Amino acid sequence: MYLKKLLKLHTTLAFRLTFWYTAIFVISFSLAFFGIYFLTVSTIHERVDQELLSDKTEFASLLVYGSDTVKDEIEIETESEGANKIFFRILTLTGEELAVSNLTSWGNVEIDKTALTRLKSGTNYVFRTIEIPKHHQHKARILYSIIGPDKILQVGRSLKDDEYLLESFRKLFGTTMIILSVFSALTGWFMARRALKGIGRITSTAIEISDGALEKRVPVNLRGDEIDRLAVTFNSMLDRINILISEMKEMTDNIAHDLKSPLTRIRGLAEIVLTTGKSMDEFKEMAASTIEECDYLMEMINTLLMISEIDAKLNNFNMVDIDMVDLIQNACEIFQPISNIKGITIATEMPDICLVRGDLQKLQRMMANLLDNAIKYTRTGGSITISLKKDHDKVMISVKDTGIGILKDDLPHIFKRFYRCDQSRTKEGIGLGLSLASSICKAHNGNLTATSSPGKGSAFVVTLPG
Ligand code: ADP
Repeated sequence: MYLKKLLKLHTTLAFRLTFWYTAIFVISFSLAFFGIYFLTVSTIHERVDQELLSDKTEFASLLVYGSDTVKDEIEIETESEGANKIFFRILTLTGEELAVSNLTSWGNVEIDKTALTRLKSGTNYVFRTIEIPKHHQHKARILYSIIGPDKILQVGRSLKDDEYLLESFRKLFGTTMIILSVFSALTGWFMARRALKGIGRITSTAIEISDGALEKRVPVNLRGDEIDRLAVTFNSMLDRINILISEMKEMTDNIAHDLKSPLTRIRGLAEIVLTTGKSMDEFKEMAASTIEECDYLMEMINTLLMISEIDAKLNNFNMVDIDMVDLIQNACEIFQPISNIKGITIATEMPDICLVRGDLQKLQRMMANLLDNAIKYTRTGGSITISLKKDHDKVMISVKDTGIGILKDDLPHIFKRFYRCDQSRTKEGIGLGLSLASSICKAHNGNLTATSSPGKGSAFVVTLPG
């Protein structure tokens, strides 16, 4: 179990964050070290070169006092600095040795012929870095320079002390680097784990939810950081899903209920006719009722399908320029006979023309649903007023009636599928008319709102882009 976890460790975000954190630290630290190291090396070389050049100046000035003075100086200088740290050699231009300091601790230091050739061709001095023949692991800096006629000074300084200094510098870097890398990896791991703890919380909640605990929510720390925001978003997403699930459940319950009633009626009729019916008229009556119930069912299913298609943007809209004045007038003409029967007057307040871009059939259906409701829920002698207004880039259509009105508690629900207010249950209807009208409005980038005074009347306002 632990081994499995350990093997999977490299796939975790915490591991990758720690890795990058440590890698960046190591790279930056190494770059800083190499910068300082190379600066130190070049400073050391510059200092040694300066010392060699000052040796050359000194010997060149002593040469006027004769070769013996130079030889004496060689001995004095070698003794004071240490025979293992410096050596001198006076040479002719052809490389013949005229004088030399104690070379016991140096071994056989070669004379560089190319350096002599360069001096002969006029170059003032030549520097070389060589390995000390007796201690191959150490280096020395050599200067060849002309100090007088046919006199060349070869002076060498051991870089052993400087190399020790650089080596201890490297060792110090190595140790510091290991300690700091471990420290940075631990800190990185701790920080990454701490930062990602919230994600762990969300993951375990998601697991619990997928196991069926739909009421579970991620605890929020109220620190207001990214993880908290993720937790809040996650929780509100879960709330939304819960609402959707209960809405869907409610809808399927409604569908089941609404399908059940007509089917029970059809079955009941068929049973009666089968057991007691004798005449052809009774059979015909039963067939007519069955057709009626089937039509009701078909209308319900078709409307439901249309709403779902419009909401899912699967229904193709044939967008054209529509004169809403014409559309409303036509709708009024269609509903005039039924309103006359009920003794309801329909009045309109409209401009001469009002263009809207939309799907003619869908907008006709929306208008018909609103007018149908207004007539259905208004008592005899009542009135309906349809007004059409254009305001800047919006077109507003209001359908106002003096009907039974809608109770305050019902108002927020009337656009839901299958919702029917208790007081209107006696009227025919399936509870999908407003839901379809609202979906059509939304599909046209508009909206449908309702206001109502129970017992006095309602007003439905459609807003469409003009
Ligand atoms: P229905 O087929 O029941 O009319 P709708 O979706 O068209 O379904 O309307 C939903 C409910 O809203 C209706 O059942 C009714 O209670 C209420 N309603 C809609 N329009 C009006 C109106 N003009 N006056 C009063 N109540 C209304």
